[in-house]
Amino acid sequence: MKEVARKARARGRKIGFVPTMGALHEGHMSLVRRVKELCEVTVVSIFVNPLQFGPGEDLERYPRTLSADVDACIAEGVDYVFAPSAEEMEPAGAETRVELPALGSRLEGRSRPGHFTGVATVVLKLLNIVQPHMAAFGQKDAQQCAVVRRLAADLMLDVELLVLPIVRDEHGLALSSRNRWLTEQDRERARLIPRALEAGREVARDGGRQPQAVIDAARAVLEEEPGLEIDYVELVDAESFESVEQLAGEMLLLVAVRLGDIRLIDNTVIRL
Ligand code: AMP
Repeated sequence: MKEVARKARARGRKIGFVPTMGALHEGHMSLVRRVKELCEVTVVSIFVNPLQFGPGEDLERYPRTLSADVDACIAEGVDYVFAPSAEEMEPAGAETRVELPALGSRLEGRSRPGHFTGVATVVLKLLNIVQPHMAAFGQKDAQQCAVVRRLAADLMLDVELLVLPIVRDEHGLALSSRNRWLTEQDRERARLIPRALEAGREVARDGGRQPQAVIDAARAVLEEEPGLEIDYVELVDAESFESVEQLAGEMLLLVAVRLGDIRLIDNTVIRL
């Protein structure tokens, strides 16, 4: 992959990169399409990164559908699929970690200790291997986008980052590789997530309210369904991910829930 990247760069071709964990869906493909519009060489990585899974999380059963993923990439006109093994990405003796002590320990980082150290470490490795001019990420994983932005700025990386909108199904449910495990009933329950975000947005739009009122409105929708366990509902500053004191500027309303043993996240931007 490094050789391919070196040659493409030597020819002056612009490399666009979409890092994924595979089990590709329309959310991933929206990133691929945008990168293809902007770059001459498109690279998709497929790597289920063990470093970003905690003990007891779903690393072993995370869906692995490499040959279907490669077919989907070919159909979309992707130039290279980079699908390394865990041993190639983290050979015996490797120990360097990229840590974001503040941003990486809030929200998802609080629920999943070590998660963003795993994400940041592997994203940096992937960027070093693929050497892209541009890399695309989905707003679906909003905190991951903030982590990668922070990482790129702090370590002075020479890559342009694109953050693209969340792709949803016809009921508003954000597409996710984990959705395939939802039972029909849980899929219906999960539709409350986008409804909760919308309820929060409405309260924010009304104006003159406290941040807690936005959170309460979203929580109230989720609490309609006892089968849906709330991990967190938070309203944060879009850059720092710190809780906001007042409704102003660019904020994110973020939700994480559990349906049985499946954990889903979603978010919406609120700009006032
Ligand atoms: P993943 O394979 O889940 O690690 O996701 C790979 C990339 O696709 C990440 O940048 C995600 O944010 C993005 N992505 C995943 N689901 C969606 C979605 N529903 N809409 C837009 N982007 C997504």
